[in-house]
Amino acid sequence: MITENLKQVLADLPQGVKLVAVSKFHPKEAIEEAYAVGQRIFGESKAQEMTAKHEVLPADIEWHFIGHLQANKVKYIVPYVSLIHSIDSYRLLSEVDRLAAKAGRVVDCLLQLHIAREETKFGFSFDECRQMLKQDDWRGLSGVRICGLMGMATNTNDKAQVRQEFASLADFFHELKDGCFAGQETFKELSMGMTHDYHEAIEAGSTMVRIGTRIFGERVY
Ligand SMILES: *Cc1c(COP(=O)(O)O)cnc(C)c1O
Repeated sequence: MITENLKQVLADLPQGVKLVAVSKFHPKEAIEEAYAVGQRIFGESKAQEMTAKHEVLPADIEWHFIGHLQANKVKYIVPYVSLIHSIDSYRLLSEVDRLAAKAGRVVDCLLQLHIAREETKFGFSFDECRQMLKQDDWRGLSGVRICGLMGMATNTNDKAQVRQEFASLADFFHELKDGCFAGQETFKELSMGMTHDYHEAIEAGSTMVRIGTRIFGERVY
């Protein structure tokens, strides 16, 4: 099933859109099946779960952290994580920077923006993010590299609303790309789109979709 699902999803993605296969709550065997098809980027939302999988699975897997990250969990993932999608405060960014510098790494990060109408999702508002970037402190952080933005749309069947939310994030991405990240080639990723809304996300300019259920089936919590 996983093999077939993954091939269908990959066939669906335009050139240049990367797939993060979201394997959270699924066992390592599920990841091995996707790995055999050639998938190398996997997304996880819990630091200890990701670390346990990292330790037993092939070293060429790129581990992306996509969940809410607590400052006291950063130390588990900093030595090996490829991309943290979920930076939602300056405090978290500077903690990743501090531990990355200690580990002798530069860790790629995305800033998570709150674009959904739901209360429960984490992330900066556009204004909070502008405020943070206006203060130049982040430019001095040499252990992190801000590579783009991530957002989650409202979980709704109203496709017009979902499109509008993705468009607002894409507009903000271009504002920053032409603004405080002007000339920085590495600011290039727009992580948006999940199982139920990745087509809308791609239409809006996503460069990275995070798909779990469509590949691995329902999660058992
Ligand atoms: C779980 C999760 C996904 C994947 O969701 P699916 O609906 O299973 O595709 C994507 N992004 C984030 C941030 C998640 O937590």
